[in-house]
Amino acid sequence: MKFETLAVHAGRGIEAGSGDISPAIHVSTTFERGADGSFPYGYSYGRADNPTRRALEQCIAALEGGTDAISFSSGSAASFAVFSLVKPNERVIAPIECYHGTGKQLRDLAAAGHLQVSFLDTTQLGEVRTALELDARLLWIETPSNPMLNVSDIQSLCDLAHKAEAMVCCDNTFATPVLQRPFTLGADLVMHSSTKYFGGHSDVMGGAVAVRDSTELAAQLRDYQGTAGAVPAPFDSWLIRRSIATLSYRVLAQTANAQRVVEFLQSNSRVERVFYPGLEQHPAYALARRQMPGGFGAVVSFNIRGDAKEALRVAARTQLFARATSLGGVESLIEHRASVEGPHSTTPQNLLRLSIGLEHADDLIDDLRQALV
Ligand SMILES: *Cc1c(COP(=O)(O)O)cnc(C)c1O
Repeated sequence: MKFETLAVHAGRGIEAGSGDISPAIHVSTTFERGADGSFPYGYSYGRADNPTRRALEQCIAALEGGTDAISFSSGSAASFAVFSLVKPNERVIAPIECYHGTGKQLRDLAAAGHLQVSFLDTTQLGEVRTALELDARLLWIETPSNPMLNVSDIQSLCDLAHKAEAMVCCDNTFATPVLQRPFTLGADLVMHSSTKYFGGHSDVMGGAVAVRDSTELAAQLRDYQGTAGAVPAPFDSWLIRRSIATLSYRVLAQTANAQRVVEFLQSNSRVERVFYPGLEQHPAYALARRQMPGGFGAVVSFNIRGDAKEALRVAARTQLFARATSLGGVESLIEHRASVEGPHSTTPQNLLRLSIGLEHADDLIDDLRQALV
């Protein structure tokens, strides 16, 4: 089946006993044993498994083209689960410019002696090749990157990692499987903050790790999920599963809006530079076209002519773009990233990041035009 069909149907069926078209939300924390002590329905206890959560996991696995997916209560719980696979004498190689919360997890885990970590520029294959010669167990990829929209070559990075017997996890939150399919390029795991495009309406937190084909990795992650217990609630699982039904249509429309906003920003004299992989002058434009066949996404960053104060002034003037962190919702957001990222941030002080929503592009452009006076 095609992507849009899976997004509606994977993990879903008509509810037995009632005929619900919209799946029921299973809130029970415990499930009946048979007279022989077995669990005839396959469920025993809510932390271990739950039908509503299972439906979400089957859907995410199908959309990424993997064999399994393990869901969590946030994207951060999902990345932490992946890092639980690494032993104290093993190394994680991660992008300098990874999501700041992911970087903090790795620094904290390394400081406590749970793993080794090296941060480097994953757009530079030579740097990664050298680093992999150490004791690397896991290569973390995040592309396009946040907030500079740099693009790393997933296929080449996977080849390098696999030669060094390291596994690869790709944070696919920004692109979503609508635009980019890391499993087809060799990744072993795909991680998501479902809080973003999967949820899509800025009203639910969640995370997931999809597994390409390793039953061993799936079992280890499943065990961690039940042991650490950061599982998504039934209602949250239902809400994310429900939102995924429209994922493709939302992401493609948001991407088309982003393209129009990018064109406008490029023509505006108050803007110094626009960062977007769909721009021909982007250093990895050719790679992005290959790797993101569905489009370049709906996150756009740009530098204002001026300093941090000037960038903050522009953000203060928008009427339609809300000043808020996060991305992937139906409503457009504007954010001064350096302010949120804290002391480890390498983000330019005059940079603003936009998450483009589902409003009409004309209204978004009008709002930016009046803010950029
Ligand atoms: C938001 C985000 C995360 C963290 O997810 P939470 O759901 O906020 O815990 C990780 N990676 C990327 C790229 C993100 O945007």
